[in-house]
Amino acid sequence: MTHSPIDVHAAGANSDPRYWLQLDTQTQWGASRYTTFQRCPRAHALRYADGIETVDRPEHFGVGSLVHAALAFVRDGVMRGELERDWHALIDIAGDLDLDMPPEVQAEAYRLVRAYEAHYGHACGWDPKDDRIRVLGIETPLGPMQIGELPFTARADAIVEMAGSVTVWDTKTRGRKLPNAREEYARGLRTRVQYGGLACLTLYVLGLEQPPAIIQDTIIKTKLAGFDRLTVQLNEGHLAAWIKQQVCVSYELYSTPPSLATPRWINCAPEIGNPCEFFYWCHGSDEERERHYRIRKESNSQ
Ligand code: SF4
Repeated sequence: MTHSPIDVHAAGANSDPRYWLQLDTQTQWGASRYTTFQRCPRAHALRYADGIETVDRPEHFGVGSLVHAALAFVRDGVMRGELERDWHALIDIAGDLDLDMPPEVQAEAYRLVRAYEAHYGHACGWDPKDDRIRVLGIETPLGPMQIGELPFTARADAIVEMAGSVTVWDTKTRGRKLPNAREEYARGLRTRVQYGGLACLTLYVLGLEQPPAIIQDTIIKTKLAGFDRLTVQLNEGHLAAWIKQQVCVSYELYSTPPSLATPRWINCAPEIGNPCEFFYWCHGSDEERERHYRIRKESNSQ
């Protein structure tokens, strides 16, 4: 099977703009969809309109998902008053979530959650008996909230009231420790689509008087696991800027049919970070396309 940028759309998507507009009203738009479009409109069209996905997900992806699932399982127990949920059977947690995890991924996730538990004294990440802390939501879907032309949604790993202030938790696993310039790094996080969305939607859903702080709860997958927490406080000015930016992106998205999705070549293989997941699709041979990608069954393009 041969592919070209035009064949991509023949692979499943309809390039008729009316079809594209219909798609927009049926699907919800989260931070990852917005940022994919901003990174490269072609990547957005490949993933969301044509339903192309990679066959070989990197192993670190599985570890992060499983750690995330284990923490959510324990935190959900704390929210329901079950303070000692046994998370050690990660294979069951993975099974419940339909995550097919090889043994080495489970072993690495086990190592990290165990170290997290030892570091914070409990696998939920705080002292569940501290009566100044109240869990308001775990894996909470937020929205949709109409931003410009599109309904924006987000999902909060945890929403926790701590000494009277609402915080939204975002747990991340990463390979390296956070940069030494923490202030600068935290300032950069305020402009992230994801953090602006979490703060804005939580403010709206809970009817808060001021934006909640976002706590980036980081697990560092070094040989000796490391842990770090950064508090990112957004104010009303940040949220106003975030909304304005998303409105602009939403209009651009709304008016760009996949057939016009322009490649942003500069993001194919950035100097820092991983290459684009569609690197082989755009730059590989026919054989590499066949080997690395498939068309998602439940694709929007059906
Ligand atoms: S490889 Fe480059 S052009 Fe292709 S989707 Fe990714 S960023 Fe866009």
